[in-house]
Formats: sequence, C-alpha cells, structure tokens
Amino acid sequence: MNLPFAEAYKIKSVEAIYRSNREEREAWIKEANFNLFNLKSKYVFIDLLTDSGTGSMSQNQWAALMQGDESYAGASSYYNLKEAVKDIFGFDYFLPTHQGRAAENVLFSALVKENDVVPGNSHFDTTKGHIEFRKAIATDCTINEAFDTEAEHPFKGNLDLNKLEEVYKTTEKGKIPFTVVTITNNSSGGQPVSVQNMRDVYELSHNYDIPVLYDSARFAENAYFIKLREKEFENHSIKEIVAEMYKYADMMTMSSKKDGIVNMGGLIGLKNEEVFKQASVFNIMFEGFITYGGMSGRDMNALAVGLQEVMEFDYLETRVKQVEYLGNKLIEAGIPIQKPIGGHAIFVNAVKFLPNVPKEQYIAQTLAIELYKEAGIRGVEIGTLLADRDPETRENRYPKLELLRLAIPRRVYTNNHMDVIAAGLINIFERRESYTKGYEIVEEAHILRHFTVKLKEI
Ligand SMILES: *Cc1c(COP(=O)(O)O)cnc(C)c1O
Repeated sequence: MNLPFAEAYKIKSVEAIYRSNREEREAWIKEANFNLFNLKSKYVFIDLLTDSGTGSMSQNQWAALMQGDESYAGASSYYNLKEAVKDIFGFDYFLPTHQGRAAENVLFSALVKENDVVPGNSHFDTTKGHIEFRKAIATDCTINEAFDTEAEHPFKGNLDLNKLEEVYKTTEKGKIPFTVVTITNNSSGGQPVSVQNMRDVYELSHNYDIPVLYDSARFAENAYFIKLREKEFENHSIKEIVAEMYKYADMMTMSSKKDGIVNMGGLIGLKNEEVFKQASVFNIMFEGFITYGGMSGRDMNALAVGLQEVMEFDYLETRVKQVEYLGNKLIEAGIPIQKPIGGHAIFVNAVKFLPNVPKEQYIAQTLAIELYKEAGIRGVEIGTLLADRDPETRENRYPKLELLRLAIPRRVYTNNHMDVIAAGLINIFERRESYTKGYEIVEEAHILRHFTVKLKEI
C-alpha cells in the first residue's frame, strides 16, 4: 500500500474555533445584513475570506521575532531582510513598507504620471487602484484562455505578447513607465506565469526601453508550478527557479502577507539606484524611514525567515496539494470550479452552481451566504457586488464571471477542514434546483460597496 500524502509539519500552538449550529448562524448572518465582512470572526468556523496575512508562522519565525531590533535606523532586522531580498531576488536596492499596496503607493508615486499606460496581466485591484488614482490607465494583456474557466492551460497567468506589443506600438513614447507581471496572477484565479513568458516579456519590453515590474505576492507558489509544469526546470530547486524568474525583472513590489508568511508587511526591490533614490523620498513621507518603512524590527526579522521558508519544496507541496485536495473533491462531485486549480484558492462558478437564481439577485453572494449557513464557512463573492456600478449610469456592472472564492490560509487548516468545506458545498449542490431567489441591496456605499453593503432576502 502506498503511504498517503500528509502535511510536512506538525502543530505546536493551536487556537480553538467554535463549531456553531445552523440556527445560530442564520441569526448571525441576518444580524450582519447578509454581508460576510460584517461577521465577527468568532462566528466563523472555517475562515476562507482571504489567504492574506492569515497564515501561521513557524517556530523559526517566532524565534526570529524575539530577536527583532527596534532601532529607528540601521537595525539588524533591516539588514537581515535586505540580505534575504538580495539573496533570493537579486535586488541590490530594497525598501520595506507596511503592506503590498503601500509598496505600490511609494513606487508609483515616483514612476506613474497622468495619462501614462501600465500594461499587465489582470492587475490586482489595489495595483489598478494606484494606477487609476494617478489618472493613468491599466491595460490588461492576459492571454484569452484565462477567461475560460474550463480551458486547461498550464500557465493561465501568462501575458499575451501580441496584445502587449500592440500597446507598446500604439502608446506615445515615454508614456509607459513599466509593465506589471503579477505572479501568480491573483485576479485570474492564482494562475502561474511561465519562465518562458517572463523571458519573452522582458525581451520585448526592453526592445521598447520599458522596465518590467513583478507584483510578487505569490512568487514561491508560481515557482512551484514552474517546477511541475515547465520541462526545463523539473530538476531545479525552487530557489534556483526564483533566481531565474527575477533575472527578467527590473523591480518588484510585494505583499509579504502572502508568500512572506507573515501577518503584515510589504517590500520594494529595485535594480536601478536612481529609482531607489526617488522612491526613498516617498517611503520616508508615507511609510517611515528607509530602514523600517512601517514595519517593526521583529516583523522584518520574521519576514526574512518566511521568505526563505516559503521556498522549501515540502512546504509548497503541502500547500498546493491541500488546495488541490479540496478542488478535486469538488470536481468529483460535479461542482463547476475554475480549472486548472490555482495555488491559493478555489473559485466556484456560481452561475453554473445556482442556475435558477437571477443575476440581478447576486448569485455568488447567495452561494456564499448559503455556505456560511450550511457549515460556518466564510468565502468571498467575486462577482456583481464587487464589480460595483457603472460610474456614469449607476447600473450594476455584470462581470464576465460570477465566482465564490475560497482562499486557503497557509499552514492553518488540516485536510479534515477541507472535507467539511467540500461536504458543505456538496450538500448545497444537491439542493441547487430549489434555490430560486437571492438578495437585494438595502444600503450601499458609492464605491467599494462590497465591504459595507447591507442586503435583505427576497
Ligand atoms: C494582496 C496583493 C496586493 C496588495 O497587497 P496588500 O498587502 O493587501 O496591500 C497586491 N498584489 C497582489 C497580487 C496581491 O495578491
């Protein structure tokens, strides 16, 4: 008999979670106006709202935390993190920030001007926000396969070189400050980008004198998929693959809350000293002095360890296989999910799942609420509520895909929890024909309404 696959770690510190019953949950979600962001976390049994900042640190990270140096300038913790960034990504210049969007804010303040164009692969929403806030345009150049949830493609995060070159050719010279490569591509479902695509994007961009920026939140998960799916790298270590990936980047921003396996933090890495000098000014203004940038010394220390740990193959295999374990259970039950299964989350196609709920009644949100009532699981709607209204007509914008995202925190839940999630969804799936009604909005904010919207049952 083959030994089954098991987690490559054991648990040293635990947090109790409350197993509520359906009656309690029905009352709590009603009290929360059917908005899962309004739920107290103690009312949630398995929390899949996000994989950002929700991971468990290792004993080595906790040990490093105790040795944090809280000096304002020149702290050893800063040098530990700076050395990790140089060792892993090869960047000589580095700035710490308090999270990923802060890194974007600092760097884009130096580089993005009004009427600029910033091409990329499905820019993350804060990245897009920081581009559009500066009255510049984010142009999506992701390959078409990414938008078909059934299409099997090993690197659905890739950029389409023809789309990219079209943007380069049709944009006035000097108006493209950089191109963003998001690894993994979060908005298209945690899908990886291949090294070949990184090389091609770099070559094309440099022919046009355009630097390349990696939005690096899940760089290690991306490298894991490269090892499995890109023949040239099957015998490379994750660290070697990461080094190869970053040969084709001029700069990086990173939310350390993902593959840094810390609860808070971000960073900027740069090859160009001039850009570093410009960004330093904004770092000091927005984040803090350049040797801490909004992070405590202890947090920089834990991050320096986390960045190395996240590249351990056994950790990554455990991580990605857990997501796959859940995904495969759902596929076996016939539940429509995004394929291939991504690195950090499962995306359920809510329109196919609940065929009788009208789109005006928020299908993915309806499914998210049902899953909470059924099993105490908190996912998140990536659909019409998130897509907001058209700023001109104030009509709902119906996105191409209406999804329920189940993001899996790192090193937090066991496969028993995955079984509960699968069972909860399968129970709802078996009754899917009986769901004919969703929700209507009682109150909403002008923008980013999904965080605070109040709903009622129809
Ligand atoms: C999370 C994330 C960000 C923003 O980072 P925060 O730490 O949440 O501010 C940017 N890009 C990607 C791809 C992300 O996943």
